[in-house]
Amino acid sequence: DKGSVGFIGVGTMGLEMVRNLLKAGHTVSAFDLNEAAVADIVKEGASRARTPADAAQRADIVITMLPDTPHVEATVYGENGLLKSPPPGKLIVDMSTISPVAVRRIHADLQKVGVSFIDAPVSGGPLGAKNAALSIMAGGEADAFAKAEPFFRAMGTTITHAGASGAGQTVKLCNQLICGINIQAICEALALGRASGVDLDLLRRVLLGGSAASWMLDKLGPSMIAGDTGAGFRIDLMLKDLRLVQEHAQALNVPLPGTALVTSQYVDARAHGEGSNGNQALFRVYDRMTNQ
Ligand code: NAD
Repeated sequence: DKGSVGFIGVGTMGLEMVRNLLKAGHTVSAFDLNEAAVADIVKEGASRARTPADAAQRADIVITMLPDTPHVEATVYGENGLLKSPPPGKLIVDMSTISPVAVRRIHADLQKVGVSFIDAPVSGGPLGAKNAALSIMAGGEADAFAKAEPFFRAMGTTITHAGASGAGQTVKLCNQLICGINIQAICEALALGRASGVDLDLLRRVLLGGSAASWMLDKLGPSMIAGDTGAGFRIDLMLKDLRLVQEHAQALNVPLPGTALVTSQYVDARAHGEGSNGNQALFRVYDRMTNQ
């Protein structure tokens, strides 16, 4: 028995993560408010849970992969939530990107009923999720991390215990700040290259061979250049992350001028109806600024 998982939130990322847990031999009971998403993964061998509490029944570990803090809180504190009926394995792992302050509160509330809570946000996008190649950064007690690690191994390749509760989220927020500013930098370079008449595919290829290479240029560059805005990591989820970065930084008196600037460009994108498009749609802001 490889261990059973109650998995809550089988969206863009969760679906791929559940596939890999199944592939590694775990049994998975899945819950999502979107019934169609659950139906898809049930066809591949998961079982359907009716509520978060139902997903937790018999589970060695419950994993949540939800959009934002309120969704995780509803899953923990809500009717039929995890606080009322914790998993028999007494371990809950949230892999969403949410507020580190909320993480520490949930951690403390679950600790009172003898349940461990690990924050373990991920980086690597839908492709990293699909290839079981995520970077997973975790916060919480070492023994709980050790229990979660075999499950992490089914979903990721770089697995790091970053420190106490909330530490996973703070590392992830540093990651997101770089991603946002990096996407902005790529947009600026593409806008300048385009205005100069440089072929953008050529520009990208050359840049990837030198010191301006980045994951974003590699993975998002082609869809930016092609104007393909299909969702992978949505603009509205990045805005959520940039808000979390700024809240965290303000509480610590750390000014982040670069983050502030790129955040207003993401707001611009959302204001122009790009919220549910992928992050490569930030280039549309530059289309407008350069009248392209
Ligand atoms: P998504 O919106 O595609 O999936 C979220 C899923 O949660 C949906 O299926 C939705 O129906 C479900 N859901 C929402 N509220 C629920 C509730 N209360 N109970 C049960 N199910 C509920 O989002 P995603 O892209 O998979 O991202 C999930 C998390 O991972 C986010 O925090 C995001 O920031 C983070 N993340 C995303 C990426 C990416 O590239 N997409 C990469 C790294 C981290």
